[in-house]
Amino acid sequence: MRMINFSAGPTGLPLSVLEHAQSELVDYRGEGYSVMEISHRSKTYEEVHFGAMDKIKKLYGIGDEYEVLFLQGGAHLQFAMIPMNLSQGGVCEYANTGVWTNKAIKEAKLMGVNVRVAASSEDDKFSYIPEIKFGDDADYTYICSNNTIYGTQYKALPKSKAPLVVDASSDFFSQPLDFSDIGILYGGAQKNAGPSGVTIVIIRKDLIERVSSQNVPTFLRYKTHADAKSLYNTPPTFAIYLLNLTMQWIMDNGGLEGIKARNDAKAKLLYDAIDGSSGFYKGHAQKEHRSVMNVSYNITPDATLEPLFVEEALKHNMLGLKGHRHLGGIRASIYNAVSQNDVKVLVDFMKEFARKNG
Ligand SMILES: *Cc1c(COP(=O)(O)O)cnc(C)c1O
Repeated sequence: MRMINFSAGPTGLPLSVLEHAQSELVDYRGEGYSVMEISHRSKTYEEVHFGAMDKIKKLYGIGDEYEVLFLQGGAHLQFAMIPMNLSQGGVCEYANTGVWTNKAIKEAKLMGVNVRVAASSEDDKFSYIPEIKFGDDADYTYICSNNTIYGTQYKALPKSKAPLVVDASSDFFSQPLDFSDIGILYGGAQKNAGPSGVTIVIIRKDLIERVSSQNVPTFLRYKTHADAKSLYNTPPTFAIYLLNLTMQWIMDNGGLEGIKARNDAKAKLLYDAIDGSSGFYKGHAQKEHRSVMNVSYNITPDATLEPLFVEEALKHNMLGLKGHRHLGGIRASIYNAVSQNDVKVLVDFMKEFARKNG
C-alpha cells in the first residue's frame, strides 16, 4: 500500500520511476552491478549524467547559451554561491517573499555584498507577490518563483533589467518557462525532480565567467563545475540516476505542457473546494497569487480542528498535510507526482470533515 503523499519535500516520486529503479537496482541493464556501485568516470554512468542534462535542456527548450550543473549543498549553498559568483560590486537586488528569500538575503549580506530589498510582502504575512522596483545598478535580481511555505507563486516571471536569479526549488519542471530574462534557475531535486542530494543549477554561460574575487574557493565557483561538466568531484550518482528517470517520466507525460495542464487541473480542484466550503476552509495566499504547487489553508471556525484534520487524513492514507511551523494550519503540496485522483481523495475527505465538524 502506498500513501498519498502531500509532503512539502522530500516527497513522493512517480511510482513508475521507483519501480523502474527497483527493477535495475541490483543489476543495471545486465551489467552485473548497481548504477550506484560504479565509477562516475565510467561510460555507463556518463550516459546517465549527460542524459539527465540533455533532458533538462530539452524540457525547457534551451540551447548552448545555458549550462546545466549538478551540485550539492541544496538550495542553501546557492544562497551563498550566487552573491559570491555574481556580485560585481554593484547592487544585489532581492524580492522578499518569505522564509526562503529571507535566508538568501541574510546569506548575501554575510558575503559582504551590497544588498537591496527591492520588494517585500512581509507586511501581510507574505500572502502575495509584491511589485519589484528594479534599479539600473543591479548585478542581478533575485526572486523565489514559488513560495513553498506561504503558497504564493509568480504567475509570470518579472521582466528584470539585470539577469534574473530564480529559486525554483518548489516549482521546478512544473510548467514551461520563458527563459529570456533568466540568468540562473536553480533548486534541489527533492520536490519535483527526484530525491534529495542533487541541486540543479541552470546558468547562462556568460554568468559562469563573472566570478571575480580571488577569495572564492575553487569548489564554490560555478566555473569549476561547468568546466568539469559537473564531474569535478564525485557527484551524487544515484540521485542523478533517479533525476534522469524522473525527467524521462515528464517527457512521457506530455513534457512541461502536459505537466502544467495536469497541475492546473489539480490546483483548481483543491482551491475550488476551499472557496466552496462556505468559509470552513480559508486559503492563506491572496487569490491572484496562489501557488499551483503548495496550497496553504486554515480551518477558520476553530483552529484546534487542524491537528485533528491532519490526524484523520493520515488514517485515510494521506501523508504530510501539516502546515509549516512558520504558518501553522494545513498545507497540501501537490507536486508533479500527485495525481488528479489523489487530489480528488483529499477534496472528498475535506468535504466530509467540514460536514462532521462545521
Ligand atoms: C525546500 C526549499 C529550499 C531549501 O532547499 P534545501 O535543498 O533543503 O537547501 C529553498 N527554497 C525553496 C523555495 C524551497 O522550497
